[in-house]
Amino acid sequence: MDDGWDLVIIGGGPAGSAAALGAKRLRPDARVLLLDRAEFPRDKACGDGIAAHGRDELALLGVPDLVADYRPTHRLSVVSPGGARVSAAVARPNHVVPRKVFDARLVRAARERGVEVRCHRVRELAARDGHVVVDGTVTARAVVAADGANSTVRRLIGLPPSPDRHTAIAVRGYADVPAGDDVQLIAMQRDGWPAYAWSFPVGDGTANVGFGMLLPRLRAVGLPGREVLHGRLAELLPHLPARDLRAHHLPLSPGRPRPGAGRVMLAGDAAGLVNPLTGEGIYYALVSGRLAGEAAVGAPGDPLSAYRRALTKALGRHLRTTDVLARAAQSPRFIDAAIATAARRKDVFDLLVEVGLGAGTVPLPLAGAVVRRWFLNAVRGGRF
Ligand SMILES: Cc1cc2nc3c(=O)[nH]c(=O)nc-3n(C[C@H](O)[C@H](O)[C@H](O)COP(=O)(O)OP(=O)(O)OC[C@H]3O[C@@H](n4cnc5c(N)ncnc54)[C@H](O)[C@@H]3O)c2cc1C
Repeated sequence: MDDGWDLVIIGGGPAGSAAALGAKRLRPDARVLLLDRAEFPRDKACGDGIAAHGRDELALLGVPDLVADYRPTHRLSVVSPGGARVSAAVARPNHVVPRKVFDARLVRAARERGVEVRCHRVRELAARDGHVVVDGTVTARAVVAADGANSTVRRLIGLPPSPDRHTAIAVRGYADVPAGDDVQLIAMQRDGWPAYAWSFPVGDGTANVGFGMLLPRLRAVGLPGREVLHGRLAELLPHLPARDLRAHHLPLSPGRPRPGAGRVMLAGDAAGLVNPLTGEGIYYALVSGRLAGEAAVGAPGDPLSAYRRALTKALGRHLRTTDVLARAAQSPRFIDAAIATAARRKDVFDLLVEVGLGAGTVPLPLAGAVVRRWFLNAVRGGRF
């Protein structure tokens, strides 16, 4: 028996590495084991967009310069489903870092802090004498499940998978772009709404390009998923032929389960933490992973309760806000109104970025401005 781990983390994406780094920062002598079925570096289907808020988290984890060698992206352009446009400088720059690089750097940082990293696919969990036994051989006082969108651990502890109506699917690839291209573009689509294509330039003459939509909308097309996703991407960004296409599910936060059971805490995609408006999940993965890691070593008596409290404090109001906005966004005209208002008012643009990429909430006066525009658009028959 491989005994005596204070914390075993399953999955070495941003949530898992953040749990490892968070635990070690709080208690450097903690025995922490990180298991991932893949060897790093490994690829992960993602838009590679790391919001400024994600960088704040990297600083809290003690790795503030992890992506400092990548070019910051200062501009964001958004086209709404009905064609309203906004293009403006973001209050704080975002970064685009291929996940093959980003995740491997985080795992390396965890290793350097004394975390043991092993390549191992987890298949079984059992509770025994106040411990968790992983695959019959490894025992831990607490487990963080950071094993992604199709989490095995979430199923093993009896929590349901993300419901289809709150699950999106997206494909990403890489395309050549002029080296000077430094605008992040999000082009929303009325056809199959909610759906959008993106182009996120990395800064090295390539861009991460992709297309995503809700799973039930994809199924409704009645064609093989790959054909639909690849076809729509090629159709929407014909000037950016993409290579290395790869797709994955996104469990959107309105379908999130409770964040664990017993001594097992769910973090990141395993906890259903993806922004339903933008598909952003890296920031949530870093926050939830850190909080779970801290709870594991800071409150070993009842880590799950400590984690739940910390998560509610960090993201509770924000998640309730995005739950409501995701419902309103079922109407593409609501998004048209939000983008049209953002094009006129920088404070609304900044707020949309906070809500879409961070932990922002919506103050009533700004919500009022969007609702007013939504109403006016309806009266004028959809003109901006
Ligand atoms: C196409 C696409 C584009 C996206 N674009 C963006 C974007 O631009 N910005 C953004 O913020 N978010 C984006 N997201 C969301 C983002 O990718 C996820 O939210 C993020 O990866 C979640 O991190 P995680 O650590 O929870 O899970 P993951 O990054 O999925 O890591 C899970 C890890 O668990 C391991 N694992 C799985 N099962 C087991 C097992 N049984 N045993 C051991 N290990 C296991 C896997 O190998 C993997 O390394 C996008 C998602 C998709 C699909």
